[in-house]
Amino acid sequence: MFNENLFPYLEKTDPEIMDAMRCELARQQGQLELIASENFASRAVLAALSNPMQNKYAEGYPGKRYYGGCECVDRAEELARERAKALFGAQHANVQPHCGTGANITAYLVFLKPGDTIMGLSLSHGGHLSHGHPVNFSGSFFNVVHYEVDRETKTLDYDAIEKQALAERPKLFVAGASAYCRVWDFKRLREICDSIGAILMVDMAHFAGLVAAKIHPDPVPYADIVTSTTHKTLRGPRGGLILCPEKYQKEVDKINFPGTQGGPFMHVIAAKAVCFKEAMSEEFRAYQRQVVANAKKLSGVLMARGFDVVTGGTDTHLFLVDLSKRGLTGKDAEKALERAGMTVNKNTVPFDGKSPFVTSGFRVGTPALTSRGMKEREMEELGALMASVLEDLTNEKTILRTREAAGALAKRFPLYA
Ligand SMILES: *Cc1c(COP(=O)(O)O)cnc(C)c1O
Repeated sequence: MFNENLFPYLEKTDPEIMDAMRCELARQQGQLELIASENFASRAVLAALSNPMQNKYAEGYPGKRYYGGCECVDRAEELARERAKALFGAQHANVQPHCGTGANITAYLVFLKPGDTIMGLSLSHGGHLSHGHPVNFSGSFFNVVHYEVDRETKTLDYDAIEKQALAERPKLFVAGASAYCRVWDFKRLREICDSIGAILMVDMAHFAGLVAAKIHPDPVPYADIVTSTTHKTLRGPRGGLILCPEKYQKEVDKINFPGTQGGPFMHVIAAKAVCFKEAMSEEFRAYQRQVVANAKKLSGVLMARGFDVVTGGTDTHLFLVDLSKRGLTGKDAEKALERAGMTVNKNTVPFDGKSPFVTSGFRVGTPALTSRGMKEREMEELGALMASVLEDLTNEKTILRTREAAGALAKRFPLYA
């Protein structure tokens, strides 16, 4: 289009940033990325992100903007909205939220006033900061009641949730999580919410790609409002998304702009449109099935080597390894694995005795490596590498040997090459 390759300009203007960018590209190419919230967007998505629409102010919505010259960006936003609606079977889509947290801010303010009660999964049991954690706006604006997973099964106990909801009577119930590996029963949650007149909000930030591929229960028929990110399993640009029935359309759009945001990022919205188009393909559905198959395989390999996986497996793209019986911390495991060429994040496990900076576990996700084309066979290889590091965390030789093997495995599945 206007320039095949912008990078020579960056190189000339700012070699330091160019260098940092090269460093990051090499890191992504050379390491095994297992952070469950990360993925590798397609070249088409990256191209859309580097697009002159980034220059455009477009406050408002297609056809009703506060600025002139919006006819081209209107086309991009219309495409993004229509595709999101078709992909998820929703009556309305707002594609403007800058991030998942922003989508949640809007969703709350559509239904709540400061001081109202929300009920969300506790952060230490897999929930997200924006589901009512005290350090987040959601924890200071609202009165928060947290539910937790069951002490024995580490899964959601809907009878217990119902009992708590009846006692606390939240005005809004948030389902969805960042570190919960089992599927949600949205129908049951709808019934619970109906019995107390509560709004059901589903934050599908993590599993939106699985929902799009129809391999995860669909929240859209049950929720009053669905929020998401577009950059996790959905594999699009960094950003947020809101889906809702027509009856909330006006309020959602108004709260998002001018209520909580200014000008939308039109280049990101263009990239979201590309992402939704990609997500409608059979190739994408096959990818998501492989993501889950890989997570099941990798967790199985680790369990076979004697590691505790929270809930004994996974239904989704992620799982949690609980190291407490081995006397290891998530912090040390994350560090050793990173040095051995595998990127994970430390994570509290339910009922963790350790602080979020130390933790007793770590979280593993397969979306990114599956985007590189890895399948079950590679998960076997990877699981063996992870286990060998974890079994001998301070053995420098093992770490170095594993680093080489991890690098070789990465090389066999080229990324952006
Ligand atoms: C990642 C995540 C978010 C926030 O997304 P950001 O784009 O980082 O703001 C919100 N909710 C859940 C459940 C998430 O996992």
